Amino acid sequence: MKLTRRGFFKITGAAGAAATVSRAYAAKASPAPEDPFGCLVDLTRCIGCRKCEDACNRVNDLPPPARSFEDPTVLNRPRRPDEKAFTVVNRYFPGQRDASNQLVPTFVKIQCMHCQEPACASACIVGALTKKENGAVHYDVTRCIGCRYCMVACPFEIPAYEYHDPITPRVMKCTFCFERISEAGGLPGCAEICPTEAITFGRRKTLLAVAKKRIQDNPARYLQEIYGEKEVGGTSWMYITAVPFEKLGFIDVPDKPTPRLAETIQHSLFAYLWSPIVLYGLLGGIMWASRGNRPHPEDEEGDRR
Ligand code: SF4
Ligand code: SF4
Ligand code: SF4
Repeated sequence: MKLTRRGFFKITGAAGAAATVSRAYAAKASPAPEDPFGCLVDLTRCIGCRKCEDACNRVNDLPPPARSFEDPTVLNRPRRPDEKAFTVVNRYFPGQRDASNQLVPTFVKIQCMHCQEPACASACIVGALTKKENGAVHYDVTRCIGCRYCMVACPFEIPAYEYHDPITPRVMKCTFCFERISEAGGLPGCAEICPTEAITFGRRKTLLAVAKKRIQDNPARYLQEIYGEKEVGGTSWMYITAVPFEKLGFIDVPDKPTPRLAETIQHSLFAYLWSPIVLYGLLGGIMWASRGNRPHPEDEEGDRR
C-alpha cells in the first residue's frame, strides 16, 4: 500500500515522528545573511499593469489564471497570493485626487517578503524552509511533511497549500526565483518584466541606500518610511510609498522577529512529546497576537472606489 503524507499523519498521530525530527531542527535559527539580494518596490511607479503576475506565472510554470492578466476587472476586488499565483497586484484608492478631481489609484504588488529571520522556517520542524545566503526563503518539497506550521507562523499570511492534490500536495509561495537569481546577472521574472522599473533587484544594503536617497531627494513624493527595513527583523522585499502603508493593506507587524519565540516554545513542546496540534494552536496564538490590528482585504472595500 502506498502511503501519502497525509495518510502517514493519520496513522502515526504525527507526534512521534515530529518529535524525532524536530530535535535536529527546532532549536536552529535560520541565520540572516549579511547582505542578501532583495527587491525594492516603489509604489509611486507601479501602474497596475500586472505584467509581473504574468511573468511570475510563466517562470514558475503555474496553471493559467481563471481570468486573463489583461482583464482590468480583476483589480476590482483585493486578492491574496495562493497556490496558483505567487504574486498579486491589488488596487487601492486611498483618497488622493488628480486635477480633474478623479480618485488616484495606488497599486500594490504582494508576494513572500523573504524575511531575514523567517518565522515560516523557524516553525518548520523538518527544515523544509530555509533562508539562503542569496536571500531567498527556499522550500524543499522532499523534506516537507505537510504539517503546515509555516502557514500558521507567517506574519504576512503568505504560504498556500495544494489542498486539491491528495497525493503530493506542496506548500506554495514566491520562490524569489531562486534558480534565476543564483545565476550571475539573473533577475526575478517580475523585476525583469516590470515596464516602469517599479521593482529594483539588488543587494539589500544597496536597495536601502537607493530607497533612502529617493526619499531624501523627493520629500514631497515619498513618505519617510521603508516597509521591510525593520519589520519582523527586516525583509528582502521592501517598499517605498507616497501613501501611508496602513491605507494600502500592509500588515502591521512588529519590528521584532517572531521566530525566536516560536522556536523556544516548539523546542520545549517537543522535548516533552506534546502533540503538534497543541503546538499548532500555540503558534497560531503567537502569530495572531503579534499581528496587531490587521484589516482583512474583504473589509477594505470602502477604500477602493
Ligand atoms: S509589472 Fe511593474 S508596473 Fe506592472 S503591476 Fe507589476 S510592479 Fe506594477
Ligand atoms: S513572508 Fe512568510 S512565508 Fe515569506 S519568508 Fe516571511 S514568514 Fe516565510
Ligand atoms: S520573485 Fe519570482 S516567484 Fe517571486 S513574485 Fe517575482 S517572479 Fe514570482
